[in-house]
Amino acid sequence: MKELLEHLVSPETRKLRPYHVPPSDGLIKLDAMENPYTLPSELREEWQACLAAANVNRYPDPGARVLRQRIREVFDVPSRCEVILGNGSDELIQMLALLIGGPGRTFLAPSPSFSMYRMISLFTGTGFREVPLNPDFSLHPDSMLDGVREAQPACIFLAYPNNPTGNRFDEDLVLEIVRVAPGVVVLDEAYYSFSGRTFLDRVPDYPNLLVMRTLSKSGLAGLRLGMLMGHPDWVAEMDKIRLPYNINSLSQAGAAFCLDHYDVLEAQGMRIREDRGQILAELAALPGVTVYPSDANFILLRFVQGADTVFESLKQRGVLVKNLHQPGGMLENCLRITVGTPEENLALLDAVREILGVRAA
Ligand SMILES: *Cc1c(COP(=O)(O)O)cnc(C)c1O
Repeated sequence: MKELLEHLVSPETRKLRPYHVPPSDGLIKLDAMENPYTLPSELREEWQACLAAANVNRYPDPGARVLRQRIREVFDVPSRCEVILGNGSDELIQMLALLIGGPGRTFLAPSPSFSMYRMISLFTGTGFREVPLNPDFSLHPDSMLDGVREAQPACIFLAYPNNPTGNRFDEDLVLEIVRVAPGVVVLDEAYYSFSGRTFLDRVPDYPNLLVMRTLSKSGLAGLRLGMLMGHPDWVAEMDKIRLPYNINSLSQAGAAFCLDHYDVLEAQGMRIREDRGQILAELAALPGVTVYPSDANFILLRFVQGADTVFESLKQRGVLVKNLHQPGGMLENCLRITVGTPEENLALLDAVREILGVRAA
């Protein structure tokens, strides 16, 4: 078997490990940037009725026209932009790799950033260039621009705000990168609901600028809906490699319904933003913890030492967060916590205080 695999599967893919999702049964789940709130029960019933009306004996609308129109309205997509949907934004990244990646091509992203940029590049045989961020996780202008000149990437990914660091990059530098890039630049605005800042209105000015969003972090992670906005000619090419029914009927109907009630999700996002401020202040008051500012629905923490132990102790106390610690790496002793409900945040704070031996104020 080993011989067969070595013969058939690329060395890059052989080296990869599948995307790991740890079990979370019975734990307070603050590891994956999900919205902790569900739809209010009246709306939930209406939503279920809407799903029940979907005729799943038929194939879905391949162009998801109703849903795409809703997206245009709700997110004020400029008229000179076209929208393409993916089964999560992960699928859109994969489509880009199929379209313009592959052997002889390179994609580029800052590091640390979203892990799927690297993973998808590697398993599609695309070269991947990482440009280290500054210690405060801002972009290093010279390293970035030199990296772009040297690697001549077909695609650059900039998560805005960045995951797992939570900060936004300098706007002028982002636009300079767009101007010098020989290929496309994807502004990945997965956390737009929590930052309120976007490059979408700049897309008509730059033919190589693409903006990507997702509904995952705003309350619909289970639906899997990502969207990419760009020049119509660009989107037309992407549409050729999109599998015809990539957005199933239930996702189309369910997401369109939620966009009709987007004010509800927006209010939840506002609540999360407010709670983020509070939890940030409380964590920052603890000794031995550095708290990084965040424009997203998560917060990056750095402990003086022993992040592995803190992570395990949190789990023992029923709280699951993301452990980013790698000895000697830029995220040494770092954990990432998602902002949850006030009760969940309190449980997290209590647990951290207990682990650090600090008494509540
Ligand atoms: C979570 C995340 C995504 C993935 O979104 P899906 O739509 O759930 O696939 C994309 N980009 C960044 C930066 C993320 O943090």
